[in-house]
Amino acid sequence: TERSLVLVKPDGVRRGLTGEVIRRVEAKGYRLVALELRTATRELLAEHYAEHEGKPFYEPLVEFMLSGPVAAMVLEGERCIEGFRSLAGATDPTVAAPGTIRGDLGRDWGEKVQQNIVHGSDAPESAEREIAIWFTDLA
Ligand code: ATP
Repeated sequence: TERSLVLVKPDGVRRGLTGEVIRRVEAKGYRLVALELRTATRELLAEHYAEHEGKPFYEPLVEFMLSGPVAAMVLEGERCIEGFRSLAGATDPTVAAPGTIRGDLGRDWGEKVQQNIVHGSDAPESAEREIAIWFTDLA
């Protein structure tokens, strides 16, 4: 079975939505194999967001991700990478479909970065890479 790295971003943790995200993940039938609340570091985020380095939203994104703790977790389940992205909805919370985490709970805050509550790995290779970054003991 597949594994995915999911983060409840600082906006989600601040708003008390960690439990709601976990509830939706578990209700869907994915198993939690790791779960930790922690504040990221610049070094960790440079690895995590390596593909976005140099983009206009990169620095604000990193600052936002450092603004408070994130709830990092590893899910396990058949096609859970695609499945969680479906649960999360589109990147832009304003247009994310109702029924999704971002569509139901997210909105535009008028800042330079999308505060879209969650992150989920987008492919098996990125899941493996991201799990190794956030949970060194699981890799
Ligand atoms: P995920 O956060 O789950 O990776 P995603 O694949 O929809 O979602 P990416 O394209 O990987 O998003 O971008 C990573 C994050 O960077 C987004 O979740 C969002 O917070 C921010 N971001 C992406 N594109 C933009 C943009 N054009 N403007 C502002 N912020 C952005």
